[in-house]
Amino acid sequence: MWRELAIVALVALVALDFWWRRRFRRAKAEAQIEHERLQRQQEQSAFHHQVRQEAVFNSMVEGLLLVDDRGRVQLANQAFANLFETRGEIIGKALLEILRLHELPEMLERINSGSPWVSRELKYPGPPELWLRVSAAAILNPDGRRHGTILVFHNQTRLKQLERTREEFVANVSHELRTPLSHIKGYVETLLDGAKDDPQVATRFLQTIARNAERLTLLIEDLLTISELESGRVTLNLQLLSLHQLVGKVCDDFKARAAGKQVLILNEVPKLKVRADAIRLEQVLSNLVDNAIKYGRADGRVTIGASAASEAKVELFVRDDGPGLPAEALERVFERFYRVDKARSREQGGTGLGLSIVKHIIQGHGGRVWAKSEAGKGATFYFTLPQG
Ligand code: ADP
Repeated sequence: MWRELAIVALVALVALDFWWRRRFRRAKAEAQIEHERLQRQQEQSAFHHQVRQEAVFNSMVEGLLLVDDRGRVQLANQAFANLFETRGEIIGKALLEILRLHELPEMLERINSGSPWVSRELKYPGPPELWLRVSAAAILNPDGRRHGTILVFHNQTRLKQLERTREEFVANVSHELRTPLSHIKGYVETLLDGAKDDPQVATRFLQTIARNAERLTLLIEDLLTISELESGRVTLNLQLLSLHQLVGKVCDDFKARAAGKQVLILNEVPKLKVRADAIRLEQVLSNLVDNAIKYGRADGRVTIGASAASEAKVELFVRDDGPGLPAEALERVFERFYRVDKARSREQGGTGLGLSIVKHIIQGHGGRVWAKSEAGKGATFYFTLPQG
């Protein structure tokens, strides 16, 4: 009887042990699955966090760089790579290895020695040459310890270029205004000093004064036109225009001037229609024809022609058979105050602004303007306009 009881107890114990082991194994397997699930979740959320962070960094316009406390790059965004045209892996490299900007280590030094924030304007020698505002700030752990620096690079090159252009423009305008003004002043003083008493000399001086006053007027008119066009306040009154008729009108306006130099103006424009502002288009053609007469050959020819460049575009040209333009001037003639021969332009009453005005007007119509020339064989100015 005791023997049977012992056997039953033993079997029960073995069964219980087996049951416990199975339960334990299942619980362990379940725990393992849960652990793996949590780990996957964590990895996924870390991955999403990283993707979000990278998306934020890469959507920034400013170049961004994270460096550790030894000045080694930890992270760089897309804008940084675009700005400095970096190629290959830069993570882990020292800052100076990537950028030849000797002010940067000094900025990092200041951050490492306790400054929370440093900002400097720097010139990057390039290529490409850049003007930058660089801001550096310490990255702090939740316990307040520093573990690196974040550097933000703002590209200010365009701003600098605009500033430079404006300064140059102001200097050019002042110079252009000063020349006729000083002539007027000089002749008036000479007249007052006694030249007025000689009627012949006085007439000659007064004529020079009148010529310089006229020059000032032209200059100021052109400056006002440029400033109006550049301000973007000009609204074009676009109309369907018959090109041949409009060019004919401009030719008539210049007939007397052309005859004075024995120049023949030819209107070879076919029957085409353009969508343009009549007054502005006349201004463009007048400037080009005026130049062709001014800089062309005496006894020469000025031809105005046009053709349909595509279904949407008409290409016009004004050609002369004068000395033409040197290759290096073909693009520059459209810059404000650029002249191939300053003295000749002034002598002819030029302001150096005519072609710049032409360019603004054509661009305002969505067109393009360019020049072609072969030395000694004349110059041709082309431009496009939307076809009517
Ligand atoms: P400007 O008032 O001096 O004529 P523009 O802007 O009209 O100013 O022209 C700029 C310069 O381009 C001129 O000074 C001249 O040197 C050159 N240029 C313009 N048109 C011609 C042309 N048809 N032939 C030769 N040179 C030209």
